[in-house]
Amino acid sequence: MNHADVLQAAGLSEAETTGGTLAVTSPIDGAEVARVAETQPGDMPEVIARAQEAFRAWCMLPAPRRGELVRLLGEELRSAKAQLGAMVTLEAGKIVSEGLGEVQEMIDICDFAVGLSRQLYGLTIASERPGHRMMETWHPLGPTAVITAFNFPVAVWSWNTAIALVCGNPVIWKPSEKTPLTAMACMKVFERALKRFGADAPEGLVQLVIGGAQIGEALVTAREIPLVSATGSTRMGRIVGPKVAERFGRSILELGGNNAMVVAPSADLDMAVRAIVFSAVGTAGQRCTSLRRLIVHESIREELVGRLKKAYESLPIGDPRREGTLVGPLIDMGARERMREALARARADGGRVHGGQPVSEGVPAGGAYVAPAIVEMPEQTEVVREETFAPILYVMGYDRLEDAIAMQNAVPQGLSSCIFTLDLREAETFISAAGSDCGIVNVNIGPSGAEIGGAFGGEKETGGGRESGSDAWKGYMRRATNTINYSDRLPLAQGVRFDI
Ligand code: NAD
Repeated sequence: MNHADVLQAAGLSEAETTGGTLAVTSPIDGAEVARVAETQPGDMPEVIARAQEAFRAWCMLPAPRRGELVRLLGEELRSAKAQLGAMVTLEAGKIVSEGLGEVQEMIDICDFAVGLSRQLYGLTIASERPGHRMMETWHPLGPTAVITAFNFPVAVWSWNTAIALVCGNPVIWKPSEKTPLTAMACMKVFERALKRFGADAPEGLVQLVIGGAQIGEALVTAREIPLVSATGSTRMGRIVGPKVAERFGRSILELGGNNAMVVAPSADLDMAVRAIVFSAVGTAGQRCTSLRRLIVHESIREELVGRLKKAYESLPIGDPRREGTLVGPLIDMGARERMREALARARADGGRVHGGQPVSEGVPAGGAYVAPAIVEMPEQTEVVREETFAPILYVMGYDRLEDAIAMQNAVPQGLSSCIFTLDLREAETFISAAGSDCGIVNVNIGPSGAEIGGAFGGEKETGGGRESGSDAWKGYMRRATNTINYSDRLPLAQGVRFDI
């Protein structure tokens, strides 16, 4: 299918994809595929007012009824999976199975949220006062802004939106300016669900705004939006976090990662090699959870690096639409330039670089294709401590597990981490308080490819937010503590006497 056919299959009309001010290119070949209309800053007050109005109606609908809309969304996503997956491939450059996988993740979170819509429960707590009962109730919070990054152009929206909707919150979505088309296609799917759901859904329940940082900032600074969920770079979070905090809003920040794997002497190396290659080169190293640092025991370092170099040599790099391709393009030429710069810095620090060169043969012209790089580093230098959003795997050696854990933790980011070991003591130490300081800590599994059932997010400069499963829903609601006196006395807490 050519680019235009993909847009058409996803239900995007010519009027929607031509004549606008935002040029959208495909990383597959750098070709301009559309020009879409941008939301104007002057439109934002109206968008926000509509969301507030929608909140008033939506928050009063019983949560299981709200869940019905998400159930229908899951159904519509199932039938649109191929078309939406192809849009992800077109606009973000993911290989076909990863594009489809992203849509599957959307379906999974819908299923989770439907169940959740009957489980938004609080605790009953023992009161110290006789004839009293204490409990907590969870209420909808209000309009929720969802700002998303290019590398998960639809899944991150769904993690937030499926949960926000069952929690009773309308959503205003600002996707990355690099992937507005996938967002527009996704809204078509949502609108089909909305139509089937009927009149209970207020107008403006989920709105899409298109544009860059300026449009995002209009959401970030709006007092009427109690929650801003923002996914992207740490640079963005450093601006967004304080601005939301300044107006006492709540934010869920999902920012950059710099994820490591420790490979211990007892590791199953066959499994480790597969996990390393998938997590370091999958999505061309453009996942927040991509493996970027390999901390390997000196006794197996040479063998492991040798096996990895061999695996890297035969990686099928190229057109992400082609069957068999495992490494598609980087998002744009700027990303390729940043990769080149990082490799030059690593070399200057004494790193030995294998691969990492631009690829122009056997790939579509105009795309930013690269050979993934393995870099053997003498130590964890500054460039290793930064997140370069490209397939660079830095390799460092260790002798004692404490040193490996210290190295894993000695970066500003704290998203995902893992250890490969068959030694129970090592595994338990790594996931204990003395171990990894990340939000995701795995054993014998790579750092990427999280399931939606767990809470997703990380510590330190990753922002501290949690999305998706477990009790992440609590971030989308407000908690009220209720104390009910069913006695005929009025005892005060802490034994305080105040007789009048
Ligand atoms: P980015 O920071 O350039 O942009 C992300 C989003 O923030 C975009 O929609 C952008 O328009 C918006 N934005 C930028 N500045 C803003 C501002 N001042 N106010 C409001 N909005 C603003 O990130 P990117 O290049 O699209 O994505 C890659 C980054 O995202 C990587 O660092 C990656 O690790 C991170 N990421 C993190 C997670 C996670 O869950 N932790 C998931 C995916 C991506």
